[in-house]
Amino acid sequence: LLSDDGAVAQTIFAEMTVLANRTGAINLGQGFPDVDGPGAIKEAAKAAIDAGRNQYAPGDGVPELRRAVADHQRRRYGLDVDPDTEVLVTTGATEALTASILALAGPGDEVVTLEPFYDSHAAAIAMAGATHVPVPLTAEGLRLDAAALRAAVSPRTRMIVVNTPHNPTGTVLTRAELEQVAAVAREADAVVLTDEVYEHLVYDDAVHVPLATLPGMAGRTLTVSSSGKTFSLTGWKVGWVHGPAPLITAVRTVKQFLSYSSGAPFQPAIAGALADEETPRALAASLASRRDLLCDGLEAAGFDVVRPQGTYFVIADGAPLGFDDGHELCRRLPDLAGVVGVPVSAFCRAGSTAAESMRSRVRFTFVKRQDVLADAVGRLARLTS
Ligand code: PMP
Ligand code: GLN
Repeated sequence: LLSDDGAVAQTIFAEMTVLANRTGAINLGQGFPDVDGPGAIKEAAKAAIDAGRNQYAPGDGVPELRRAVADHQRRRYGLDVDPDTEVLVTTGATEALTASILALAGPGDEVVTLEPFYDSHAAAIAMAGATHVPVPLTAEGLRLDAAALRAAVSPRTRMIVVNTPHNPTGTVLTRAELEQVAAVAREADAVVLTDEVYEHLVYDDAVHVPLATLPGMAGRTLTVSSSGKTFSLTGWKVGWVHGPAPLITAVRTVKQFLSYSSGAPFQPAIAGALADEETPRALAASLASRRDLLCDGLEAAGFDVVRPQGTYFVIADGAPLGFDDGHELCRRLPDLAGVVGVPVSAFCRAGSTAAESMRSRVRFTFVKRQDVLADAVGRLARLTS
């Protein structure tokens, strides 16, 4: 453990993936697809390698990718982003998030997140030496508790971290919920760091609303996304952050000393991919049916499930099956059912209200092939037989 609150320790994903590999169980723990993204994008990276784009890329990213990010944000959301001063390419969303937090928060500052939270958010806050103030989502519907958010901010609040669509719950924050976040941020004069890596992966009638599109918010918002989820290329680690030039300058300054620059041949390949609307649309459509397959199977096996409207994760409650401790259930699941999940408590601060209300819940991913999910569902049925 590198931090007192346990935020900087071995990630739960590494632990559960090792467990899956050791036991041969189906890994529905770590969220990565078992089918790679489009061949054309891979060919574009190979072509970039063959064309000699193998030395350091510019620190802020190759111009065509910065332009492609700005074009994507304008086309989809009507956001006006200057590719030269307001975009920074990073080594995955992870580096964008960590560099942003290190750049803007330090000892004495408070950083508010929702809880459960994506684990790297908490680790970055701890590495910055700032104080993490988590705000629990409602235990029932897993939604924003605006009153709790309002109560959590103080004159020391430097930053509010939002993640929508939200990992691990799959909650997609509505415009009304985001307006409540925006109002609190404006009142507290806080920067908002918004993690939108699942922006394309929304289902049913849910709509992804970037926080930066709300009135008055572009000037105080850092928006993070990544190509990993959108194009099923999680190993390429091409991400980005955009926002007002002075904030991006601060984040760029930190990024210089985390990685200096990011994978050169992957950047032009992703620049080309970002113009493609069809690949993410088709992925979302196929994920919606895979979500239903897994959720139906979990329900049939006796779990309580909150059907997610975004991401590729679902939270299932083991309490109706008599499992009160999700971590314990995850350790035993390979033996009991040949499946691996991740305990939701890993996305909570130890001992917090959310950790308590999430205690018996487990996160499973549905970004696996239909036949793999069908196999997993069959295995999970063993829990009740
Ligand atoms: N934020 C969230 C909410 C995530 O789920 C993930 C990864 N799955 C990341 C950030 C990290 O993205 P990347 O792999 O691009 O670093
Ligand atoms: N973000 C992925 C998840 O939530 C995993 C990323 C990782 O292993 N760090 O499962």
